[in-house]
Amino acid sequence: MSASTEVDVVVIGLGPGGEYVATNLAKGGLDVVAVESRLVGGECPYYGCVPSKMMLSAAASLDEGRRVRGRAGTAEVHPDWTPVADRIRDEATDDWDDTVAVKRLEDAGVTFARGAGRLVGDRQVEVGDTTYVARRGVVLNPGTDPVVPPIEGLADTPYWTNRDVVQLRELPGSLLVIGGGAIGVELSQALHAFGVDVTILELAPRLLPPEEPESAAALEKALTAAGIRVLTGVSIESVAYADGGFTIDLGDVSVTGDKLLVATGRKPKFAELGLDTVGLDPEARSLETDERMRVKDGLWAIGDVTGKGAFTHMSMYQAAVAVRDLLDEDGPWADYRAVPRVTFTHPEVASVGLSEAQAKEQGIDVRTAVDEGLGTRGWIVQQDGFIKVVADRERGVLVGATVVGPSAGEIFSMLVTAVHAEVPVATLRTMHYAYPTMHRAVESAVNGLDLA
Ligand SMILES: Cc1cc2nc3c(=O)[nH]c(=O)nc-3n(C[C@H](O)[C@H](O)[C@H](O)COP(=O)(O)OP(=O)(O)OC[C@H]3O[C@@H](n4cnc5c(N)ncnc54)[C@H](O)[C@@H]3O)c2cc1C
Repeated sequence: MSASTEVDVVVIGLGPGGEYVATNLAKGGLDVVAVESRLVGGECPYYGCVPSKMMLSAAASLDEGRRVRGRAGTAEVHPDWTPVADRIRDEATDDWDDTVAVKRLEDAGVTFARGAGRLVGDRQVEVGDTTYVARRGVVLNPGTDPVVPPIEGLADTPYWTNRDVVQLRELPGSLLVIGGGAIGVELSQALHAFGVDVTILELAPRLLPPEEPESAAALEKALTAAGIRVLTGVSIESVAYADGGFTIDLGDVSVTGDKLLVATGRKPKFAELGLDTVGLDPEARSLETDERMRVKDGLWAIGDVTGKGAFTHMSMYQAAVAVRDLLDEDGPWADYRAVPRVTFTHPEVASVGLSEAQAKEQGIDVRTAVDEGLGTRGWIVQQDGFIKVVADRERGVLVGATVVGPSAGEIFSMLVTAVHAEVPVATLRTMHYAYPTMHRAVESAVNGLDLA
């Protein structure tokens, strides 16, 4: 017989946003139960952003060492994965242990429940033998799992996902990667820098399909120049595993590798959430939310499951919106005009708002300009890159922008502000830009726009 407990709010799933919601509602005086079946903090700190960026940061050190010859003398680079694996264990994930994160929650006044939370009716959540009845409501932050596509033979092989790669102690000799999106290209480049022979297989005609075609071309050029094999527009017939190796049949040819990473996107795990008990479709691809992150009366959703962008900063942004609503504040509510995203490869690919194609689809009178080279500093540091701006001619403002190059994820912050705050192009054309920075190329790009 299950016990019933009344609280103000139940949070199911503690990704970055769920943790924020639980902590801030408790600090705001509400009685909060937070439920997590795996690790408090979710995908980002344990299997996603943080370990992958640690890998890429170490890879960048190797690349920098390799650049010494011909620029500054000589240097010998001998890659060693051990310090990377140690740092991921010791500094990023506490060996995949969330004791510190649970304590942080409890110190903030949250009641923590370890287990799978399941809706069993409006404002009711079952965790093991306990049913929580939430006076105010339930916040869903269950995140997503890696998608494993229905390719013949694949399910029976010992393929890897991101969750396996970030736990590696030893690197394979060669790796096949299915998926040339952000996760696939980042992990490919990080492992390749440490000597792994990598082949990327992408079904779409180019890498990073949602990004500008110029970004995909620049990234493919850089990956190929470094020695990564990039095959785009492929059709995968089957996957087989035998004698310790993988073979992927591409129809006319096949490719082989010691290991296989599947990085073909993410999917929500609605089946276990009991969505049907509150009148929602468990087969849906995402949860429809209003500007306050409400799915329906007494139910909020935040993070990857809302389909607004699978990013930690999206989860946190939406969490702040939901907290404002639950604490009866007056907004501001969710606005997705200037969503930034960064692929942390070398070169980095950073973009905000609409691509040229998306802006045209929306019927905007689009003008674009591209500035190649990242200005004098790009030339000094001998790094390629470009800035592309997408403008609405009628309103005289930017609706999107892309920066590709070293530190693009930092350089583009001014463009995020420009798109978000609708700074007039006329203002961007007449402000000061320090010399010789890479962001000076923003000035050249906006000067290249024909807004007549
Ligand atoms: C390799 C990789 C690299 C990435 N890099 C970046 C990056 O650089 N920048 C960026 O912004 N984003 C990045 N992301 C995406 C980012 O990790 C996610 O967008 C982020 O974690 C936010 O997800 P979320 O809040 O929806 O939930 P998640 O982080 O997925 O957490 C959801 C939590 O809910 C729990 N849960 C699910 N169902 C239940 C249930 N029924 N009961 C109890 N608990 C449940 C899960 O165990 C999980 O811990 C990366 C992702 C990957 C895989």
